[in-house]
Amino acid sequence: MSSTDKQIRREIQSRDVVEPSPEVAWHTLPSRVVVERLATGIDGLTDRDVQRRRAVHGWNRLAAAKPQSALLRFIRQFHNVLIYVMSGAAVVTAVLQHWIDTAVLFAAVIINVVIAYVQEGKAEAAMGAIRAMLSPRATVIRDGHTVDIDADELVPGDLVTLAPGDRVPADMRLLSVDGLRVEEAALTGESVPVDKSTDTTAADAPIADRVGMAYAGTLVVRGQATGVVVGTGPRTELGRINQLLTGISPTSTPLLRQISRFGRILAVFILALSAATFALGVLWRGQGIAEMFTMAVALAASAIPEGLPAIMTVTLAIGVQRMSRRRAIVRRLPAVEALGSVTVICSDKTGTLTSNEMTVQRVICGGHDIDVGGVGYAPVGDLSIDGRIIDPAHYPALRDALLAAELCNDASLHQADDAWMITGDPTEAALLVAAAKAGLPHDRARAEHPRINTVPFASENRIMGTLHTGTDADALILVKGAPERVLGICDRQRGVHGEEPVDRRYWQHMAVTTAAQGLRVLALARRRGAPRNAGVLEIADLDAGFTMLGLVGIIDPLRPDAVVAVQECHRAGIRVKMITGDHVATAREIGAQLGIGVGKPAVTGAEIAAMDDAELRNVAHERDVFARASPEHKLRLVCALQARGDVVAMTGDGVNDSPALKKADIGIAMGGKGTEAAKEAADMVLADDNFATIAAAVSEGRTVYDNIRKFVLFMLPTNGGEALVVIAAIIFQITLPLTPAQVLWINLATSSTLGLALAFEPPETDVMRRRPRPPRENLLSRYFAWRVGMVSVLMAGGALGMFLCELNLGTSVETARTMAVNAIVVAEMFYLLNNRYLLEPVLNRIGLFGNKIAFATVVACTALQLSFTYMPAMNVVFGSTPLGYVEWLKAAGVGALVFVAVEIEKFVVRRRRTSPPLREEHPQ
Ligand code: ATP
Repeated sequence: MSSTDKQIRREIQSRDVVEPSPEVAWHTLPSRVVVERLATGIDGLTDRDVQRRRAVHGWNRLAAAKPQSALLRFIRQFHNVLIYVMSGAAVVTAVLQHWIDTAVLFAAVIINVVIAYVQEGKAEAAMGAIRAMLSPRATVIRDGHTVDIDADELVPGDLVTLAPGDRVPADMRLLSVDGLRVEEAALTGESVPVDKSTDTTAADAPIADRVGMAYAGTLVVRGQATGVVVGTGPRTELGRINQLLTGISPTSTPLLRQISRFGRILAVFILALSAATFALGVLWRGQGIAEMFTMAVALAASAIPEGLPAIMTVTLAIGVQRMSRRRAIVRRLPAVEALGSVTVICSDKTGTLTSNEMTVQRVICGGHDIDVGGVGYAPVGDLSIDGRIIDPAHYPALRDALLAAELCNDASLHQADDAWMITGDPTEAALLVAAAKAGLPHDRARAEHPRINTVPFASENRIMGTLHTGTDADALILVKGAPERVLGICDRQRGVHGEEPVDRRYWQHMAVTTAAQGLRVLALARRRGAPRNAGVLEIADLDAGFTMLGLVGIIDPLRPDAVVAVQECHRAGIRVKMITGDHVATAREIGAQLGIGVGKPAVTGAEIAAMDDAELRNVAHERDVFARASPEHKLRLVCALQARGDVVAMTGDGVNDSPALKKADIGIAMGGKGTEAAKEAADMVLADDNFATIAAAVSEGRTVYDNIRKFVLFMLPTNGGEALVVIAAIIFQITLPLTPAQVLWINLATSSTLGLALAFEPPETDVMRRRPRPPRENLLSRYFAWRVGMVSVLMAGGALGMFLCELNLGTSVETARTMAVNAIVVAEMFYLLNNRYLLEPVLNRIGLFGNKIAFATVVACTALQLSFTYMPAMNVVFGSTPLGYVEWLKAAGVGALVFVAVEIEKFVVRRRRTSPPLREEHPQ
């Protein structure tokens, strides 16, 4: 401990504060006592308090599960069929005293293990970095301000507020509770949520009964509360049972499983083939047992695609990393693949397609239609009627409406430096700004009419209510919410001269015309008199007897890049559907501006509710805009679309969106405004809440899949080519063109290094102009098999043909073999370049040099080949000899042959396919 830490500790002790310790049974103490003992004021802790306490209690985090030691991870890499085969063979060659083969085999084992170790490390580092980006948040009151911080930063004594969808960030004693209900399964195993209060409980009460406490890791499903932190990190109940909440699951993906199954089958096949080659060579051709044994092993080593699963994982991890750079954080790996197949994206409107920067533009009250000037959260702007600036003081109906708007409101507005900042819901903040523009500062209003109780806004109810002490002895209930909802409980209205019977048709008309301008509409109303249970406001109290005060129309501008992203998705064969809680007219107008559902009627939540599943399947397919929809409608829409075979991405942010997010093929949560519950249910989190990020992620998802295909398409023929050379030589009784050691060399020096470059391929230019990939499409299509066969034969034929010609010309076997090895490696390098684009030509500047890593691996591989050919030590180990430039030219010619042949084949295939490319391979 540093000397400053010690000093801070002494200081804390001298302040006579009882610091939290496991021995204190906080649930038995009244909240007032808890607050006193933790020395917390109504304004929360100060920065200095926080620092002091952090020095004593540390960060609010649980020790991560201890990672496996590097040595153990290294040893684990030996557990691999190929390594077993090669190690066994090394032992056999040692017994036969073929020391060079033994050394080469052992070196091959070690190099293979090191490559696997490094690749695994890279994949893990990528996933670890993503994990860190998803740290949970907490809303805390410090120094009188409500701020959103990393939950890690909490210390005992912090005042924390809880809202639906939050994971409780630390152990807390509850100070005030408003309908709080918490699901404590993480701790107690009990999945039925429990109601909380501020009551004390007996010292021996089990955790499940301690109603006055909220424990770290449990989930708020309803209501709101404020509590004081009593335990953080390891000193929470969760820390004590040493449970980590689920982070990103490192699960495999369907594609990875498909590939590793394929790899295993191939390995068995190749082992059988090697055994057959051994038998054939020894019994038929009378080759030496030792030589044929090493050859069989070399053959197995070169043909078994041992690097396949590892490179797949690396490709996926690189994709995940790239997505996170584009602000899409993948929580579950299979999402990366599924993204490539998405056919429908169902998106929220507010904050995802729009910017969620709300400004009130219109207030309709007391028979007036008032325009509000200014944009953003700065409370500067004139109010006008028909272009004539008005003095708000002369419009008492406006005052009443805006007073309700700012009192029935949980947001706050403050000026930091020159900018105006808000906390809370932007819709509510916009109302505060409008009230301030009309000369009604919210501090004063809130002081004059203190709030007694609240019915918080919930998307399902579309209404919020607050209970206040009125100016007279009467209580005052204020509501705001969706116009049809509020109008339904009003029987009077605030007219120019006072209250009068409500004119529903007028309000309905005004609400629809306002919404049709693309504005979000809220209605405001009030009622004098107490609720049924004095002092407690419930949703049942918001049922009748209200006076309509007015309507506000709020503009929420489109995100500038959303329009482009929607078009991009349409071009990529992906339908975009907008599902919003807003008014149907608002939804239709915003949809039209975005190019979603143009010319087709919007569907409302009520209509969805009235449809049976069969009907909904058709409607879900045909229509694109869904308004006044609630989370359960989202769930039904996902099911309906999936039943038609669509692959669905669905966005969500609220606690109730979790079922739809889980059901969707890709659940997407909002990183900014999303609740912890939604994030946990999601496969992917958008760090910037932006629709354009989904389109970017789709493009990356398609790229990952392309790159995996490119790698498989690269690796199989290179292994196949080498194997064919050896098999052909044995069958046709020719001098072996490659020695076992040379086969191992080619395999090590090229396949793993060259192939890895394909994992870094950037997206192809047409990646967002193709149709989505059918989810069950087989990676190894007929076309693939053809390409693998063609290239294998070309490589083997070229190398073998050249080798035989050279022997005929009287060249020494060593030189001819060295040329054959170089020919195969050069062919692989060229073929790597071919494979940068599946079908597009690569004979251009970007095609040849566009992937720096591919270029670098080609250079590195060339250096290795030069050392193989010219280094005396290598000549001894591998039986190679230096070559002259004519010989190099011949070897390079074989490589060029493969390159040209593949480019011609791509050209022919492109010609035979209709544009855009790959369409036939991705039939709809
Ligand atoms: P989405 O994000 O799915 O596009 P949304 O967030 O716009 O939908 P909701 O927040 O559910 O939809 O809002 C639905 C309606 O409820 C709004 O049109 C508005 O009339 C009303 N409303 C929104 N926010 C509040 C609030 N804080 N208080 C009262 N009423 C609100």
